[in-house]
Amino acid sequence: MLTIDLRGKRALVAGVADDGGFGFAIAKALAEAGASVCIGTWPPALGIFQTMLDRGKLDDSLTLSDGGKLAFERIYPLDAAFDEQSDIPTETRESKRYRDHGDVSIQGLANRLAADFGPACLDVVVHSLANAPEVQKPLLETSRRGYLAALGTSAFSFVSLLRRLGPLTNSGGSFLTLSYLAGERVVPGYGGGMSSAKAALESDMRTLSYEAGRKWAIRVNAISAGPMASRAANAIGRIQDSIEHYRAASPLAEAISAAEVASAAAFLSSHLASGITGTTLYVDKGYHAMGVTSV
Ligand code: NAD
Repeated sequence: MLTIDLRGKRALVAGVADDGGFGFAIAKALAEAGASVCIGTWPPALGIFQTMLDRGKLDDSLTLSDGGKLAFERIYPLDAAFDEQSDIPTETRESKRYRDHGDVSIQGLANRLAADFGPACLDVVVHSLANAPEVQKPLLETSRRGYLAALGTSAFSFVSLLRRLGPLTNSGGSFLTLSYLAGERVVPGYGGGMSSAKAALESDMRTLSYEAGRKWAIRVNAISAGPMASRAANAIGRIQDSIEHYRAASPLAEAISAAEVASAAAFLSSHLASGITGTTLYVDKGYHAMGVTSV
């Protein structure tokens, strides 16, 4: 039988702060396949997420198909807008939601992983995070500051993650990021530089697949997912309209589920995908293939 087998592997999923997004679903799928799963959570969201976990509010979502419960091996505070602690402004570092967490930069995450598990401790890394302060503004009205913030947090963070976690990742390991069609086609409303960030992310993914492949024998891929009403997507607005449009126009006339994206992610993270790198895989019910969407 051909199965996705990640037993004995350790995964880090960056961008989990509730049970409603792709990151959570991917973490769960990786655990279903046998991996130990650590997550990285944005400090402003960490307190609420930890409280929900402690109070059992997420127990239903954490239940695995064998009846067991997903237990994250570690939950690391991570602000992917910062590469090193010295990049974090003092005001942020000393603010209520950051001051107890130490170094929340990407390098801080790498240091903690190495300290907790040793030098070759990772097999799978998933980058499932994005942020753009001006996402509701059309590109034409986006400020330079907002644009660069979108690029920094949503695209460069993947480069930085690979640079800093690549040395901790075993050969044959996999890095995966989450993209969206707006990086290559016009999606009105996906503003603030987010479309530019996804374009950069997919291009970087290809370049990184070569560089990381040659340097560490690591694979690097992206999933371009269809729309889903996560917390991040709700912040963009009009997500239900978008889901409805996709449902009406896609070859498979139904909405995408987080679990469908997650099982594709588990496949790409596994040995079954050992020949796949530098690829963007569409998990969108086929919407990307359409030319005319109203018939
Ligand atoms: P989500 O809200 O579950 O995930 C986004 C995560 O990013 C959150 O956990 C948030 O706390 C985290 N985050 C924001 N800024 C951060 C920072 N500076 N440092 C660390 N973490 C930070 O929403 P999602 O929709 O599942 O998003 C996951 C990925 O999927 C994103 O890259 C998103 O662009 C992509 N995606 C989403 C959709 C969709 O319709 N939901 C479609 C295609 C691609």
